[in-house]
Amino acid sequence: AKGAGRNQSCFYLPKMQQRILERVEMDSDLRRAMMNHEFLLHFQPQWNAERKMVGVEALVRWLHPVKGMIPPGQFIPFAEESRLILPLGDWVLMAACQTKARWLKEGYLDDVVMAVNVSAMQFAQEDFIDKVGKALAHTLVPPHLIQLELTESMLVHDQEDVIQKMRSLKELGVLISLDDFGTGYSSLSYLQQLPIDQLKIDKSFVARVMDSKRGASIAASIIGLGHNLGMEVIAEGVEEDAQFQWLKQQGCDLFQGYGLSRPLEEKILIGSFVKQV
Ligand code: C2E
Ligand code: CA
Ligand code: CA
Ligand code: CA
Repeated sequence: AKGAGRNQSCFYLPKMQQRILERVEMDSDLRRAMMNHEFLLHFQPQWNAERKMVGVEALVRWLHPVKGMIPPGQFIPFAEESRLILPLGDWVLMAACQTKARWLKEGYLDDVVMAVNVSAMQFAQEDFIDKVGKALAHTLVPPHLIQLELTESMLVHDQEDVIQKMRSLKELGVLISLDDFGTGYSSLSYLQQLPIDQLKIDKSFVARVMDSKRGASIAASIIGLGHNLGMEVIAEGVEEDAQFQWLKQQGCDLFQGYGLSRPLEEKILIGSFVKQV
């Protein structure tokens, strides 16, 4: 047994060391990236049933000097582990508000809502509400044009604290969307107490609407639930026209996905969707 144990550690230790090394490297790389302003936002349009663009979701990217464009799935988890998600999240919030303010100043996409992702750790900060207030005050963006995307998983902790914070956000006047809806475990009685403006059907459900009766009924139920609670419902991950048509028929309010538009650089977004005069 002893021998087996030794063999095991010989096998696992290098792997673990490698993982630790990777984390340390990523950590210093991320810190450097923050200092060097290597992050940027792309914007994915959100459409209503008449195919009018009514929102954009700001999605962070890392333009690494050697590795090129890195998607958030490859660095957000590390940023969360090292708490660098806090300064990164501050930057995203401010940059999204500044971008929206600039568009307003230049007369672009006036009624288009800017949706901003918020991580659990960011939301849990005691001064999160202050930070949102400061971003609004600093940029002078009308609060109803900013929508914060929270996820179900961040709502499970201290329910009283969550309710208080969400109420404070509503007092500031921003919109609240519940992202990845259906993948978490929030109870309906709890949901009912939260001042949520929008439910976002997770793309894993959208992907299944045309596959089976069950897949379809899950999405239809979320739409019904959201509407019964007085919320707007948006579907993410809409890739096919058949999905768009079906969701639209079910009364889904808004749509986002590669089938309608990919996340775009600001220049391309403005170039494609602002009529030049
Ligand atoms: P999310 O908030 O669920 O964002 C939607 C993701 O789905 C985006 O990936 C988007 O590009 C992708 N997507 C859009 N349409 C389609 C589609 O039709 N099919 C499929 N398969 N995917 C689609 P992205 O930009 O790689 O972001 C991944 C995740 O990283 C986001 O998921 C979000 O959780 C996180 N993230 C992105 N930006 C930020 C940010 O600024 N702050 C925080 N905290 N998290 C962010
Ligand atoms: Ca999101
Ligand atoms: Ca989502
Ligand atoms: Ca998702």
